[in-house]
Amino acid sequence: MTIAATRRAHRPPRADQVLVGGVNSPVRAFRAVGGEPLHASRGRGAVLTDARGRRFVDLIMGWGALILGHSHPQVVAAVRGQLSRGSHFGLTHAGEVALADAIARAMPSVEQVRFTASGTEACMSAIRLARGATGRCTILTFEGCYHGHSDGLLVKRGSGLATLGLAASAGVPEPIAAQTLIAPYGDVDALEQAFRDHGPQLACAILEPVAANTGVIVPQRHFLKRLRELTSRHGALLIFDEVVTGFRLGLGGAQGLLRVRPDLTVLGKVIGGGLPIGAFGGPRALMRELAPEGRVYHAGTFAGHPLSMAAGLATLRLLRRAQPYSRLEACGSRLAEGLRAAAQEWQVPLQVPQIGSMLTVFFAASPVASFADTQRADRGRFAAFANGLRAAGVLIPPSQFEAMFLSVAHTERVIDRIIEQSVAVLRRIRRV
Ligand code: PMP
Repeated sequence: MTIAATRRAHRPPRADQVLVGGVNSPVRAFRAVGGEPLHASRGRGAVLTDARGRRFVDLIMGWGALILGHSHPQVVAAVRGQLSRGSHFGLTHAGEVALADAIARAMPSVEQVRFTASGTEACMSAIRLARGATGRCTILTFEGCYHGHSDGLLVKRGSGLATLGLAASAGVPEPIAAQTLIAPYGDVDALEQAFRDHGPQLACAILEPVAANTGVIVPQRHFLKRLRELTSRHGALLIFDEVVTGFRLGLGGAQGLLRVRPDLTVLGKVIGGGLPIGAFGGPRALMRELAPEGRVYHAGTFAGHPLSMAAGLATLRLLRRAQPYSRLEACGSRLAEGLRAAAQEWQVPLQVPQIGSMLTVFFAASPVASFADTQRADRGRFAAFANGLRAAGVLIPPSQFEAMFLSVAHTERVIDRIIEQSVAVLRRIRRV
């Protein structure tokens, strides 16, 4: 073979030749906004650099995992330190105990923790625990909430107030989907009806206490309180999926902020400091139902992975010390206000629900308070906005139904730069 032929033979393949759709998770394909996958190469602070060397202010932030920004020096040092002592044991180690303790100290509803390798596994196993503990089968979920991609949670709604689910993905058997009830998020009347109709069969209700996966929706506290009362009265467990909100909205998560105490809490993202993780926790008496103490099975080769524990512990320690939450809230509302003002100036109907460091833009004339409201927003304009910002060097999630995330690295200056770029894009969009 000639040198040129050898070089050709070793040319790296295109991503879509060896990865399905060029990605490992569908939203990364950018298809919802008619775009192309972005190939990331480096991240530092609030900035992500792609494989072509273009720099972006990042508002995806690892889908919410990176509350300290990319490559925070203390997280990097903690992971390096652990790596030099051993990457993986598959045995109990000090990092697991320390991270579980940090979580339990921050969240009063959690006494014991079980770590997993992803949020999906943690939700799936928390539900299995609820079924095992109650001896019941049916679960109640809420429109627009996402709890990972296990079979029983990939369901879509039929018609009516609270309906049994239909499979939302090929490969999910209907009998499995049919054990999942779905009610409208934030609707107290529908909630009462669901418990009247199905209360005695319910093993648990699971929801995002602040929704992020249909875009940000902050529910009325009254809705969560009523759900707490109804689950208790009917002997069903209440599971808060705080994979996004845990340690993002405060050290105590959404449950601390909204003062509603669940039976089980699911965590992920931030508690792994950017490395793969999931966890679920609750009172000892309940967690004891898990193997090896009890009869509910859960296991994992990489559960409690040392590198994730090191990154997570460094992150939680920093969050506890720095208490950045009021600053994150100030930056979040500065961005939301800036976007609202720009939209008003250019007469573009825009809603920007925001809480702390999470926000979403909806091109809609009236407030977005339910899943149905999110479906009415103008997705064509959203796509134009996302693509316009990407071209201007600001990366937002390429889907209407995701949250933008800030980190401690998104300073006021960075926020103002995002607003400036948004103004220019909104000005163009008003004609779309
Ligand atoms: N629950 C919520 C609320 C999530 O946002 C996600 C992921 N976006 C999951 C569960 C699943 O977590 P993972 O992707 O780590 O499996």
